[in-house]
Amino acid sequence: MKIYIVTDNEGLAGVSSASYISPAFERQDLIAHTRKLLADEINACIEGCVRGGAAEIIVRDGHGDGQNVTRAMIDPRADLICGATPGELLADLDGSAGVILLGYHAKAGTPGAVCEHTMSSLTWQNMWINGRLTGEIGICAYIAGEHGVPVIMVSGDDKCCAEAAEWLPEAVTCQVKKGFSCNGARIPAPEKTNALIAAKAEEAVRRSAEMPLLLAEKPVTMRLELVSRQHLPVNPAYKHIDARTWELQHESVEKAFFFNM
Ligand SMILES: [Zn+2]
Repeated sequence: MKIYIVTDNEGLAGVSSASYISPAFERQDLIAHTRKLLADEINACIEGCVRGGAAEIIVRDGHGDGQNVTRAMIDPRADLICGATPGELLADLDGSAGVILLGYHAKAGTPGAVCEHTMSSLTWQNMWINGRLTGEIGICAYIAGEHGVPVIMVSGDDKCCAEAAEWLPEAVTCQVKKGFSCNGARIPAPEKTNALIAAKAEEAVRRSAEMPLLLAEKPVTMRLELVSRQHLPVNPAYKHIDARTWELQHESVEKAFFFNM
């Protein structure tokens, strides 16, 4: 059984603000700390997947440029995908029994959620797929669904887990912290959260065969509201809704997402 883990940094247990994940805050000490937190959560998750019966495990380093951990930091029982994979959010996903979203976060605008955003806190305000306000959990689950793979587990703060439960009621949720604001959290000891991740991953892998796919109706309509004006794409395939909002129809979420990107 092949299991695919895709990581983000905002929902790691020890991350309480953007200064842990964005070089713009010039806190290299916190960024280095986050790399270690990420590696420890990945390794706990791999351990759980193996216990649950996974024979092949791929870890996709999914935050920013995808270069947050090195190969040496990761359990040798998994392969690591890092860096750019043009046109593919989840490269080499096909044939997996399940996707685990590790260290995820709530969609843009969620009150009390740590580092809430959708894809880009600087440029994206809101995104809808077929009229439903969608965050990164929904985007990943739709794209995984198009490859015939269910999302089986989501970890992050309490708001992330609530969003996951709304979108993917069968999936295992793993709350590793409580959010108070975009930049405030209550964080348990990593010994506890890493053990929880391993236990939840084991459960998710064991139950993967019963998890349903999330499928978007086709054609897919993607609507994106940008943060600022004067950045609408000029390609005529994009319908301009207002000065900050465009809409695109395509045959799949994945193709709409990567159209012209
Ligand atoms: Zn991220």
